[in-house]
Amino acid sequence: MRTVYLDNNATTQVAPEVLDSMLPYFMELYGNPSSMHSFGGQVAKKITAAREQAAALINASPDEIIFTSCGTESDNAAIRSALATNLDRRHVITSRVEHPAVKALCASLSRQGYRITEVPVDKNGLLDMGHYENSLTPDTAVVSLMWANNETGVIFPVEKAADLAHAHGIPFHTDAVQSAGKIPINMKSNAIDMLSISGHKLHAPKGIGILYVRRGTRFSPFLIGGHQEKGRRGGTENTPSIIGLGKACELSAANLARENTRVKNLRDKLENALLKIIPQSRVNGDRLNRLPNTSNISFEYIEGEAILLLLNEHGICASSGSACTSGSLQPSHVLHAMGVPFTMAHGSIRFSLSIYNTEEEIDLVIETLPPVIERLRSMSPFWNSSSQTCTG
Ligand code: PLP
Repeated sequence: MRTVYLDNNATTQVAPEVLDSMLPYFMELYGNPSSMHSFGGQVAKKITAAREQAAALINASPDEIIFTSCGTESDNAAIRSALATNLDRRHVITSRVEHPAVKALCASLSRQGYRITEVPVDKNGLLDMGHYENSLTPDTAVVSLMWANNETGVIFPVEKAADLAHAHGIPFHTDAVQSAGKIPINMKSNAIDMLSISGHKLHAPKGIGILYVRRGTRFSPFLIGGHQEKGRRGGTENTPSIIGLGKACELSAANLARENTRVKNLRDKLENALLKIIPQSRVNGDRLNRLPNTSNISFEYIEGEAILLLLNEHGICASSGSACTSGSLQPSHVLHAMGVPFTMAHGSIRFSLSIYNTEEEIDLVIETLPPVIERLRSMSPFWNSSSQTCTG
């Protein structure tokens, strides 16, 4: 059975060109880039080139790029650096819909005595800018707001939010893990201080990330050790992955237009067809301010997990908006923050596409999903199939 992979916000396939670029650095060119000999030196040159490729994707300078182990590390490093360089401040601003890489860190900071403001979102997942502005105080050490949401794809106005933070002398970090490679990012035309990227969301391998730190930003390293990354991140470089990530950034820059035309058209075709065919279905998240590849749809009165299991039988991979924790189904914190009703939040499915998806695959999902939903609803005590409404 073929796999139809529509879970690209979870992780992506490594691009063949990326794998090719990495392979020599496992067996033949395995030198340490910090070594004095030219065997290691040639690897150091490739890392320099990868840094340039990474910088080019977001129109930054290469010296503003720090390679890390993942998006989570980049988020943690950015927030902890801001706290370490503003020791007298004890307040952090974030949003209610952040990824656990930020959300769980803030919860941990709260237990250590920091005051955390989680800015709410509206029913479309858009940030409450009035609430945000009112939260900025002289005690705020850092603002961390995601550029785009991993579950709904909703985009926050982070460039404007950074300007507002700066007007109060507050450093600004953004988690751009889902936006890099999907929407244009130009660090020369905004004032964001720190930005996180993860390799495995843009066709590089897992376990490699980037933290962008604007030149002149006070920075305190998270991993303290050797002089790697100009002393900003100790640890021998993950050379094959850095080189692969450089290639992936180059490809992403070249594919950005495709993401916003072909991928977006496929996403829209899928979404519009499902909404038309399946009653009591709706899109979660603002349909305009959204990543081009993401569609989060709720199908009322059924469990997302049940839909996923049946889709899985057809080789279709997507993800659900709720997480099964110790037997009890917790609706996603993102949908909860948006006020999505319980019966809708439980039946939510996230489809996330990539440049590798084809129209044929989308057609297959359009054909497969409606009977799956019908079958599940026919088993639901709350669903009255004759009137296609809820009876519970
Ligand atoms: N931030 C966002 C918005 C994400 O979607 C993810 C991964 O799903 C991360 C951070 C964490 O990235 P990583 O898996 O590289 O640690």
